[in-house]
Amino acid sequence: MKLDILVVGGGMVGATLAWGLGRRFPHWSVGVVEAVAQDDSHQPSFDDRVIALSAGSVAGLEELGLWGDLQHQAQPISHIHVAEKGGFGRAQLHAEDYQVQALGQVLPVAAIGQVLHRKLQCQWFCPDRIAEIEQGQDALAVTLASGQRLQTRLLVVADGGNSPTRALLGMGASRQDYGQHAIIANVRTQKPHQGWAFERFTETGPLALLPMTRNRLNLVLCVRPEEVEATLSLDDQGFLQLLQRRFGWRLGAFLEVGERHCYPLSLIQADSLRANRALVVGNAAHSLHPIAGQGFNLGLRDVLVLLDCLAGDDPGHWQGLAAWEGRRQGDLQRTIGTTDTLARLFANDHFPLYLGRNLGLGLLNHLPLAKHRLAWQMLGWEKG
Ligand SMILES: Cc1cc2nc3c(=O)[nH]c(=O)nc-3n(C[C@H](O)[C@H](O)[C@H](O)COP(=O)(O)OP(=O)(O)OC[C@H]3O[C@@H](n4cnc5c(N)ncnc54)[C@H](O)[C@@H]3O)c2cc1C
Repeated sequence: MKLDILVVGGGMVGATLAWGLGRRFPHWSVGVVEAVAQDDSHQPSFDDRVIALSAGSVAGLEELGLWGDLQHQAQPISHIHVAEKGGFGRAQLHAEDYQVQALGQVLPVAAIGQVLHRKLQCQWFCPDRIAEIEQGQDALAVTLASGQRLQTRLLVVADGGNSPTRALLGMGASRQDYGQHAIIANVRTQKPHQGWAFERFTETGPLALLPMTRNRLNLVLCVRPEEVEATLSLDDQGFLQLLQRRFGWRLGAFLEVGERHCYPLSLIQADSLRANRALVVGNAAHSLHPIAGQGFNLGLRDVLVLLDCLAGDDPGHWQGLAAWEGRRQGDLQRTIGTTDTLARLFANDHFPLYLGRNLGLGLLNHLPLAKHRLAWQMLGWEKG
């Protein structure tokens, strides 16, 4: 079978790209290879997480014609509160300061998966994966594990941080472990969240609470590897007490907690974003610490810029791919750099660092220009 574009990985980023390609370039044939069946409860991209979408990402999903189907499940973030547990520094952001209705929106990833899978009409190869890739000047010849042979003029790799396809293309990647795991769960508190998102820096790593619909909050609690087993095996009451100690009483008592899931955290960066007739996007190109909620936001910007750069008769022409790579570099460096700095700075108990970050948070709150700059970047109002 001959295709114009083959996307490997039908998760958050790959499926969004496939949808965008079909909408923007209806004359091109698009296929998706996905390893895990859509109805498999272990689909790793559309699991029980919720994610914070920046205001820029919401605009991007609107541009792609997806937001209308998602909006009713989203909880707007009206305020963000960042503080060090037991420290004196804190910073606050408010939607009204930026003349926007919301600083971002919180959505369950499963909702995004359902909408994408319902709307997507391209060719699905699932469950399947790529076993072999042969290089050619005008197309790549791809053999799937099922034995099916395909030819594609452009291959877009979106199969996640460990990306077997990136490796098949001979593209290297670096991995730096953060020595932290993220435990996620939905929680209920005594006081209503009123659209506040919280980020607390604690002695074992950050703790984030994102507001959800029906007055629930989604927790991301970062712990050291040696604490994972004990934390996961706490009964609900013990876990709620631990949260209370780490977060404090700003939302009153923690009353209920749902099922807990755990993710090891590392920074993975592909050595290059481009090869002959191939590109790497989303987590396959950059897996980040979830501290600032930037992973999918960054992957979505990979997609939006790619849709802008593809033109002409040949989607795999090096000029379009080189233009995309050039336009992505600045945004990637800034977002990865800021996220990595925050993850390392706030994971350290060293006293001068503790003092410095408290002073920094306090100062940030009183320097509107610096705060505005950070907000501009973290809220994703530039595509790069
Ligand atoms: C705890 C936590 C909280 C987060 N919070 C936020 C947030 O608030 N905001 C935000 O923007 N981001 C957040 N993120 C990051 C976000 O979840 C990721 O950036 C996003 O899921 C990346 O999507 P992706 O499609 O690139 O990769 P993945 O989600 O990893 O999807 C990869 C897909 O490829 C498939 N696949 C794997 N191998 C193969 C193969 N060989 N062949 C074919 N298919 C294959 C997988 O089955 C999957 O469907 C968070 C992440 C974590 C862990």
